[in-house]
Amino acid sequence: MLKNILNKFELNKGDIITLLQAKDENEINLIFQKADEVRKKYCGNEVHLRGIIEFSNYCEQNCLYCGLRKDNSSLERYRMTIDEILQTAEKIYEAGIKTIVLQSGEDITCTGNEIAEIIRLIKNEFDVAITLSLGERDYEDYKLWKKAGADRYLLKHETANPKLYSIYHLGQMLQDRIQHLLYLKSLGYQIGSGNIVGLPNQTLEDIAGDILLCKQLDVDMASFSPFIPSPDSPYRKQKRCDVNFILLVMAIARIVLKNVHIPATTALATLDPEGREKGLRAGANVIMPNFTPAPYKEKYSIYANKKTDDNIMHYVIEAAASEGRIISETKGQSLKLSTEVTQNE
Ligand code: SAM
Ligand code: SF4
Repeated sequence: MLKNILNKFELNKGDIITLLQAKDENEINLIFQKADEVRKKYCGNEVHLRGIIEFSNYCEQNCLYCGLRKDNSSLERYRMTIDEILQTAEKIYEAGIKTIVLQSGEDITCTGNEIAEIIRLIKNEFDVAITLSLGERDYEDYKLWKKAGADRYLLKHETANPKLYSIYHLGQMLQDRIQHLLYLKSLGYQIGSGNIVGLPNQTLEDIAGDILLCKQLDVDMASFSPFIPSPDSPYRKQKRCDVNFILLVMAIARIVLKNVHIPATTALATLDPEGREKGLRAGANVIMPNFTPAPYKEKYSIYANKKTDDNIMHYVIEAAASEGRIISETKGQSLKLSTEVTQNE
């Protein structure tokens, strides 16, 4: 049964749920083996690095799972200056990384024009791709930033279950989040989406729906992060995601989505000291080293004990090497721009 599913090219929701239910060690190994084959075929042995700058922890939103939520009054807020952002961008570039991710809470006090200026300054100075991860903004802002040189936008749908979406986001609608992803796509951004695995009341069917929504949106990048409770959020007492389960979800996502970038997330490295290595073995082909400088990085506390390595490049290079993988020297553009999908695996 499980082997039959793994031999299919297109997996349906029922197939994905069956794989998510795998408990037997041999079955789980078969899933990881298949994910590794698919990763090799569509992504090769390269690991793409994306250097993150978390430039502001101000946020207008109140997502129930996140420590940066607006109502968390115990968090000391910061916003890096343009000079600090540029200096950090230079460090990323000097480390040989060709993608810079600008991430923040939904900080509406950073105007569209200010962000556009940061994008232009980085692009003028360094030969890099820029990914934005700034939450939902106006269509006109997305347009302005694309024109300024942004290449990609990461905006996770978080859950594809509309009821849960409205609960986690206090009445907001999943269809609006999807509309923003469609706006971004229509403007020519490479888009990234994904979910959080292990949120309260989430079912296996919901997770299968998350993977299938990434497929339906034809995303260039799909990120599946384990839920880790933040002590400063309403979900402080909820259970964290099991590491083996998030690895299984990533492996199944690789089998279903094929030619997309999948990161071994910082949350995974927070759950398990060998999370990056295990993620690379479970279908991941991207690592996103965090370059946010002190004293800010401690204050970007999305969840408890977020991993912040001082010598991050050392750990990342070791992780890739230990899995026999090579660090890419390219910008790691969308695999959909460069590969053709073949139907005869
Ligand atoms: N504000 C932007 C947004 O929401 O898209 C970007 C920053 S937000 C901190 C980045 C991601 O953190 C979210 O997409 C969400 O999936 C993840 N996140 C937030 N709280 C989390 C938690 N407790 N455990 C795991 N991931 C979490
Ligand atoms: Fe804000 Fe993003 Fe956290 Fe939601 S997930 S509270 S939008 S930083």
